[in-house]
Amino acid sequence: MNFDNLGLIPSLLKAVKEKGYQEPSPIQEKAIPLILKGRDILASAQTGTGKTAGFTLPLLQRLSSNRSNGKRNIRALILTPTRELAAQIYDNVLEYSKHLNLRSTVIFGGVNQRPQVATLRQGVDVLIATPGRLLDLVNQKVLFLSNVNILVLDEADRMLDMGFKRDLDKIMSIIPRQRQNLLFSATFSKEIKVLAKQILNNPEIVEATPENTTVEAIVQKAYRVDKNKKASLIIKLILEGGWFQVLVFTRTKHGANNLCKKMIKSNIKAAAIHGNKSQSARTKALSGFKSGAVEVLVATDIAPRGLDIPLLPHVINFELPNIPEDYVHRIGRTGRAGAKGEALSLVSVEEKNYLRDIEKLIGNRIQITTVEGFEPDPNYVPAEKTQRSRIKHRSRNPNKGFPRRGSRR
Ligand code: ADP
Ligand code: MG
Repeated sequence: MNFDNLGLIPSLLKAVKEKGYQEPSPIQEKAIPLILKGRDILASAQTGTGKTAGFTLPLLQRLSSNRSNGKRNIRALILTPTRELAAQIYDNVLEYSKHLNLRSTVIFGGVNQRPQVATLRQGVDVLIATPGRLLDLVNQKVLFLSNVNILVLDEADRMLDMGFKRDLDKIMSIIPRQRQNLLFSATFSKEIKVLAKQILNNPEIVEATPENTTVEAIVQKAYRVDKNKKASLIIKLILEGGWFQVLVFTRTKHGANNLCKKMIKSNIKAAAIHGNKSQSARTKALSGFKSGAVEVLVATDIAPRGLDIPLLPHVINFELPNIPEDYVHRIGRTGRAGAKGEALSLVSVEEKNYLRDIEKLIGNRIQITTVEGFEPDPNYVPAEKTQRSRIKHRSRNPNKGFPRRGSRR
């Protein structure tokens, strides 16, 4: 399949060519013609399958064909859960619209709103936004959504996880009813189906099987180790292995900060990225990681979801996620595009059940061993009760109680 056969106009094909893409990804091949026709879409595909271009290219084409000469109005609204993702989509939109007469901008919280408002005042065709700042500016009457005719929800499942449902409802009530809707989600959970039913109009369902299933391209390993020894083990592995470009996942923001500090003390160039970090700190950490100045990025699940960090040789689960699907998303950041990657999990006795749930989900056993000098203390008895209540407190869905496999969202 060739990009030329998808019905895209020359200015877009030129931009695609300049990006160096040879051929469309499966999701692009399926989604682009449908979106060009004006269809609503419910699409699911793993991270790294090129969803952004899949919706951006046809969206830009539809906007450019209807462009009149008057003042610019926001006609396409792209909603996304995190600031980093918003910024990343914006970069893509800029690149793909390079040869078109369309303007776009991005807005998100955590930074001064004034430059954002100034750009909006000049008029834009495409707005990429996180729900919170969007509603903020709508309420201040500096942003108007009455001309939106294409709505994109990117990483919709994550938006629901992060508690944006009410914001989304509010936004739906403001924008015109007559519009094209594109919903992208990594999973088809019950909540996503409900959202889809509420928002989409006779949608075409687009699914693409991931290019590399977890079992094939990614070497998965686990080490049994006590909680209190995990930090020293991970530092030893990184230093002795000479690893760089390592993405480490922790369950909590606090845990991410702690681990990061310990690594820095051991002369590892580490940075943490999570929701409590300032926007500039997050941007700096991410660009440092991409450029190589940061060797280890310590992240929580929510922070880097959907971010395009190419070719990661190492993903380490400092703690296993309590939602098994998150494991798949985490390790999906390694072994991309045919490159071999390694996903390593440090598993304490408290996390045994999480490991079992993950193995059930991926339909495979993960090889688990110990590292000499870091063997678990056989006399250690986990305090089951305290542990349970703490996990309950930490879970993203506190109302749902202790999260088990299948209880996601
Ligand atoms: P997703 O949203 O599905 O996680 P992205 O849209 O972020 O994926 O794309 C992942 C990476 O793949 C990006 O670096 C992007 O530039 C690249 N990419 C997208 N489409 C193609 C293509 N057709 N050929 C080669 N690379 C592509
Ligand atoms: Mg994406």
